[in-house]
Amino acid sequence: MSSEFTKILLNEDEMPRQWYNIQADLPVPLPPPLGPDGNPIGPDALAKVFPMNLIEQEMSTERWIDIPQEIQAILKIWRPSPLYRAHRLEAALKTPAKIFYKNEGVSPAGSHKPNTAVAQAWYNKEFGIKHLITETGAGQWGSALAMSCKLVGIDCKVFMVRISFDQKPFRKIMMKTWGADCIASPSTETAVGRRILAAMPDTPGSLAIAISEAIEQAVEHDDTRYALGSVLNHVMLHQTIIGLEARKQLDKVGLYPDIVIGCAGGGSNFAGISFPFICDKIHGREVQVIATEPEACPTLTRGPYVYDNGDEAQMTPLLAMHSLGHGFIPPAIHAGGLRYHGMAPLVSHVKQLGLIEATSLGQTECYEAAMLFAHTEGFIPAPETAHAIAQTIREAKKATEEGKEKVILMNWSGHGLMDLQGYDAFMSGKLSDYALPEELLQRSLLAVKDHPPAPQA
Ligand SMILES: *Cc1c(COP(=O)(O)O)cnc(C)c1O
Repeated sequence: MSSEFTKILLNEDEMPRQWYNIQADLPVPLPPPLGPDGNPIGPDALAKVFPMNLIEQEMSTERWIDIPQEIQAILKIWRPSPLYRAHRLEAALKTPAKIFYKNEGVSPAGSHKPNTAVAQAWYNKEFGIKHLITETGAGQWGSALAMSCKLVGIDCKVFMVRISFDQKPFRKIMMKTWGADCIASPSTETAVGRRILAAMPDTPGSLAIAISEAIEQAVEHDDTRYALGSVLNHVMLHQTIIGLEARKQLDKVGLYPDIVIGCAGGGSNFAGISFPFICDKIHGREVQVIATEPEACPTLTRGPYVYDNGDEAQMTPLLAMHSLGHGFIPPAIHAGGLRYHGMAPLVSHVKQLGLIEATSLGQTECYEAAMLFAHTEGFIPAPETAHAIAQTIREAKKATEEGKEKVILMNWSGHGLMDLQGYDAFMSGKLSDYALPEELLQRSLLAVKDHPPAPQA
């Protein structure tokens, strides 16, 4: 095969049969989650929230974990996903860089999220669970889990952040089409939701609030559990199939990336594309790895590394992560999937270890990049994905200046066909940049000032 091909494809029998667990290779182990008393928690502390088979994965330090046959069979509906060479984008940029993008937009729900949604639905069913409850921000996770629960055969209920519930009616319809129940958060169904509505009746909501509502309901019933679409170790694990495939695909054309790029909300698509390459880096290979996020929600670039809760009501254990504070209400930028207050502990940890870099970008640069991508490669990217594209364009321009033929690998995390309002706002000149003001950040961080300090690597 030649690197001049436009698509580098794997056969179904070349799909990875194991996930890669970076915990096996970390030079310093991940700091443990802590309970409310400040001591590390054991598996039982999570037993009402997640099924034990997923809790075992969450804590595992085995390097390779088998993907059950039944999960492989469902993943094969769209996997292995194609790796594209962005010939036309390269030509428009007049760059000597070779740009490759891993197209995760080919899944039925349109993003990388079904890679873990299918696995989580299957492990819950296997454990005897009948109902899964979750939250969703922009709606990508809710729709991925709704589809997966339908394919696997269990019930699904989704608390959707109010602002997206109002702005994104089509995502709601997708969830309903796949048989899920979708409710605006904060809602009057939970104690948390009622408390927040009483204090802030007009709140746009946040992922942290919706997570609190979902967990509150999930722990009330023995046959019900909660599912999270990002942040946790087992989610990062399930997403590594992206990077494992991409490494095989580049290998087929005799290449290895100089730079690997992903956008980061909770960290899962970034971890998915990058962890197999970070494994190589830990073992001596040279590769630059960049996570990119919005200036409006700058978790990795400006959030301190602290122990913080994953949700607003502080029901989750304390996780060592970059955080903007669990009470953070993000501004209403269009990349809804990047508006979480925390960053996956594993992604935060590899940042602490100096294995990755992080950048933050304004939304107008991202939409300009998305437009150029649509004009050259055809596909319309999700606003989240646009961050990875904008960073890729920055790196390609650097390669041009340096006259270097760099190989850049980007995770194309999803399509934007359900996010066209953002494009409309951009094209009619209604979008402006918004960097999180320092005083808002400092106020939000007051919520973590009494938490135990996260260990510095
Ligand atoms: C949810 C989402 C993201 C952000 O979530 P991560 O867990 O950081 O990957 C990015 N891109 C798309 C298309 C998404 O749906």
